[in-house]
Amino acid sequence: MLNEDTPLTPVNKADKLSPDASEKGDLSMPAKVDMDKIVSLCKRRGLIFPSSEIYGGLASCWDYGPMGVELKRNVRDAWWKSIVHERDDVVGLDTSIMMHPGVWTASGHIDSFTDPLLECKSCHLRWRADDIEGQRCPKCDGELTEPRMFNLMFKTSMGPVEEEASTIYLRPETAQGIFVNFDNVITTSRKKLPLGIAQIGKSFRNEITTGNFIFRTREFEHMELEYFVKPGTDEEWLDYWVKERFDWYVKLGIRKENLRLRQHGKDELAHYARDCYDIDYLFPMGWSELEGIANRGDFDLIQHAKHSGKELGYYDAEAGEKYVPYVIEPSAGVDRSVLAFLIDAYDEEEVEGEKRTVLHLNPSLSPIKVAVLPLSRNEKLTPLAKEVFNKLCPNFVTDYDDSQSIGRRYRRQDEIGTPFCVTIDFESLEDKQVTIRERDSLAQIRVPIEKLEKNLEAKLKGEAFNASALWATREK
Ligand code: ATP
Repeated sequence: MLNEDTPLTPVNKADKLSPDASEKGDLSMPAKVDMDKIVSLCKRRGLIFPSSEIYGGLASCWDYGPMGVELKRNVRDAWWKSIVHERDDVVGLDTSIMMHPGVWTASGHIDSFTDPLLECKSCHLRWRADDIEGQRCPKCDGELTEPRMFNLMFKTSMGPVEEEASTIYLRPETAQGIFVNFDNVITTSRKKLPLGIAQIGKSFRNEITTGNFIFRTREFEHMELEYFVKPGTDEEWLDYWVKERFDWYVKLGIRKENLRLRQHGKDELAHYARDCYDIDYLFPMGWSELEGIANRGDFDLIQHAKHSGKELGYYDAEAGEKYVPYVIEPSAGVDRSVLAFLIDAYDEEEVEGEKRTVLHLNPSLSPIKVAVLPLSRNEKLTPLAKEVFNKLCPNFVTDYDDSQSIGRRYRRQDEIGTPFCVTIDFESLEDKQVTIRERDSLAQIRVPIEKLEKNLEAKLKGEAFNASALWATREK
């Protein structure tokens, strides 16, 4: 059963917002940060840049900068830890992006991975039919063409001579790499069902409409779990994974009121799905899908067995029976999760009459865990500050910054969500103590350098920042 406080809201498909929703004005629009602020912070602080920017950029492609690459890696690691490392019923896999073309015939992607596309006869903008309400172009009110089906897979050719080369596709999901390896994993891992196989990797979709920053792009990263179960237990496992995945976002700091569950209507289910839930997030443009959790039944294994001629089933030794497992699939986007974490963490507040922008990220997601800041760039302070930095950086992702005033340096760390700053001042030279300053409360405590690592480790694991224990001040 789903948790009682899980907001399982039945929502119409019409509530799923199209990229132009912000132009239309949406009633459920949250009174929070707008996307421009996030895009600008990402550019300014080295989180995310437009791709090929010096050539004018490439539509819907983005590059992760020095801070973004850390954040993205932390999101991936948090998923992998909770899905693979903290359980004994899930193993990992890393399959190739290019696969035998037969895979995509069997999976139904050649025939069915399509979106109906409409083109405006006046401004020639193209729209996904299910993003359009009414008969006219939302941009210029022009007349639209009849819908035609558009396959979202990127085609390329393999082999040095183009005319003789075979057509292959860039994978639009990582799931199929898991299904075609089901037998390999079952026979080599010696695990029993229920068994999950997890994969993180790039996927490619030639989306008709992209937009909203990294929300919908043509190249993105998937985090997918295929959880194989005995038929008849599938509904229970679907409930289990819906709750598990919902709680994962909450545990990592996303506010519950900004998340909701939406069950797909029968007319909306994908060709392979028996049931499906979306976890939606309240993005600045409105409620939109963050993750999908589907009951795929035995569709994929049956299809691959049929097309490859290889039997894909499971022998349950305890029950003495053979069957084709059903599959529960939680499928999330790394980039879309990064965006939700950024938006939810973003805050602007006033401290002593000055504005500060802060990312209240869960410390496990923060790009930098600790910043070492000598009070000033002074020849007496630098050696001790460097010593502290060298001590910390093998254990924590640590930044060293000695340029500009201490206040400005704190603000720079706040903007990228660094949970702790360690300040070395002139007193530190005498008493061998330093000040730890906490991002959210702005409280400060003083600790001996020799206890610094242990202290930070405990605090990064969630120990309360007990500012009264030693001495505390609120930052001026
Ligand atoms: P949407 O309806 O938003 O296009 P979808 O239902 O096609 O998504 P799935 O195939 O269920 O998406 O993929 C699972 C997850 O992968 C999505 O919830 C999303 O987080 C991510 N995802 C899918 N397509 C994209 C994309 N084009 N850009 C970024 N992330 C994506």
